Amino acid sequence: MPLPARRLEGFTESVIRKMTRVAKQHGAINLAQGFPDFDPPEALVEALARAIRGPHHQYSITWGAQNFREALARKITRFTGLPIDPERHLVATCGSTEAMMVAMMTACNPGDKVIVFSPFYENYAADAILCGAEPIYVPLHPPDFRFDPEELEKAFAQKPKALVLCNPSNPSGKVFTREELLHIAALAEKHDAFVLSDEVYEHIVYAPHTHIPFATLPGMFERTLTCGSLSKTYAITGWRLGYVAAHEKLIESARKVHDFLTVGAAAPLQEAAVAALGFGDDYYAGLTREYTAKRDLFQAALRSTSLPFTEPEGAYYVLLDISSLGFKDDTEAALKLAENGGVAGVPGSSFFREPVQRYVRFHFAKKEETLRAGADALAARIDLLRKR
Ligand code: GLN
Repeated sequence: MPLPARRLEGFTESVIRKMTRVAKQHGAINLAQGFPDFDPPEALVEALARAIRGPHHQYSITWGAQNFREALARKITRFTGLPIDPERHLVATCGSTEAMMVAMMTACNPGDKVIVFSPFYENYAADAILCGAEPIYVPLHPPDFRFDPEELEKAFAQKPKALVLCNPSNPSGKVFTREELLHIAALAEKHDAFVLSDEVYEHIVYAPHTHIPFATLPGMFERTLTCGSLSKTYAITGWRLGYVAAHEKLIESARKVHDFLTVGAAAPLQEAAVAALGFGDDYYAGLTREYTAKRDLFQAALRSTSLPFTEPEGAYYVLLDISSLGFKDDTEAALKLAENGGVAGVPGSSFFREPVQRYVRFHFAKKEETLRAGADALAARIDLLRKR
């Protein structure tokens, strides 16, 4: 049998998705792969029921259905102030997972280097490798996950074609400050690099932190490919609706990549999503309120275990420090926590380039009852493991 391509040896299967399978196998509460167990807003579900009865069963325009792009452009302009033109600045994609792949293939040639902050969402390295590019890593140092300007400067000295920014950040929960973003912007400009900005958690930010879209920084619209998603904002991760927003020159290229990768996102789902893109400010205020309550509930439960953990400024992940439980590594710890109807998290090492094995990542995008059950089961399991 011929061998599969060598590029696939550069990365493993997604540990996040693997832990969802482990959770199923062990009947564990799944706080591993970040997706909600609550329903999307009723108005959105109704819009989907209408859309499915409508004339939307064939391909939409490759780069996104007309009314979807129009609604999306209005929504982005409303929140960022950027004058996004639905005809020139957008490509609708199959989730932000495709958006990042499209952004990477639009920006990078084979052999190019791409800066990735570590810890990082595991897709970025895989995307770079699939493009024939090489990820180079800059650590974000716990506990506040700041980068060392000298380390970042050194990485830029290697002449990368792009930097991947995840803001708010998965898995650290960091929300980059204006000062940090301006620092990245200055280096991107000086070294003529693209910024591939994954902003899927833009609306899940905890006071007093605020989200600054990278493309709104002075001079940055021309070199930023923003990857956005409807998944987290409207609790529709299974709809696979995302987008790339950027300067028209970049979108011209991004459309080509997207067209040959997937042709288009699902037409009836784009049609239905127009309803969500028109939601008023109360929806977003409610989202913040609900996620803040979930975070508070989950953090209170974690405090009772007296294990240290990272307190997120945005997104919905917590890195729980399990080093004191005495396991060989975080993978063993995650498996032990999940076994026999426990709680599934993701071994932290799958997010770090450095040999960091002290964390298991849990997410709290769940109904209150699931979170309570998860937190109780986690506390009980930790107690048991301490006594072993
Ligand atoms: N972003 C989510 C996570 O980090 C889900 C990723 C995925 O599986 N597409 O868990």
